[in-house]
Amino acid sequence: MTINRREMLLAAGAALLGPASLGRVLAQDKAGPAKKVLFFTKSSGFQHSVIARKQDAPALAERILTEIGRAHGFEVVATKDGRMFDPDKIGQWDAFAFETTGDLTQEGTDKAPPISADGLQGFLDAIRGGKGFVGMHCATDTFGVHRKMGAEDPYIQMIGGHFAGHGPQQVATIGIADPSFPGVSAFGTDAYRLNDEWYNQKFLADDLHVILVQKTEGMRGNDYQRPNYPETWAHMFGKGRVFYTSMGHREDVWENPAYQGLLLGALGWTTGKFDFDVSPNIATVTPGYKQLKN
Ligand SMILES: [Zn+2]
Repeated sequence: MTINRREMLLAAGAALLGPASLGRVLAQDKAGPAKKVLFFTKSSGFQHSVIARKQDAPALAERILTEIGRAHGFEVVATKDGRMFDPDKIGQWDAFAFETTGDLTQEGTDKAPPISADGLQGFLDAIRGGKGFVGMHCATDTFGVHRKMGAEDPYIQMIGGHFAGHGPQQVATIGIADPSFPGVSAFGTDAYRLNDEWYNQKFLADDLHVILVQKTEGMRGNDYQRPNYPETWAHMFGKGRVFYTSMGHREDVWENPAYQGLLLGALGWTTGKFDFDVSPNIATVTPGYKQLKN
């Protein structure tokens, strides 16, 4: 039997979302207007294969987020054009999703139009004012050191951490810190094993609500010789709801229904479709999070 990609994604979504409250909550809101999400995939630094377009066809990650979004009440617009953040356009989005690298105010690797200075200010103001943000994988490898800034970078403060390197791709154990976040139930209640490129992170915000934990014991590479640290988290930036997961390098991660469900949960929470308590738990769940070396 052959099924097309869309049927496969919908089937995966249905299987995933059936038993969880997520599907119900999203379904209740389906009648309302779709939430508008700008999925920004510009690479001013390294360009990942999951967001690289062949000719003008949408990239794998762009197709997947657009399709699962459409099936669950989100209008996702994928772009590499930084002019979408211009003052006359930025107000239309309920949330922003980033799989980006580098200083996005520079043309950089992919030569797509950069974000203007006004656009960047407008973006950060929008999140502070209550718009949502969903960061995936290299979203923490964006701004910061690429514009010679550290923990004082408002972008880093918004997203909650910054890329500090990565080791070889490997199957790692992800601990479940908060199974109640929408979509996390597909990862189980205790731990989940997955092959991806795992980011080491620094400048982690003290107010993070950790959802999934990077369990470092036994991981290969100098980047992971440190105590457990947050892998997926949520927190507030002003009135804005911010979500980040370091997963999302590999194609098969993007095709994984558990990952897709987590992203749907993130879209739902950050756009206000449902509420979630993001009281900080970083100090109790990952007490050694400030320590970058064992
Ligand atoms: Zn990567």
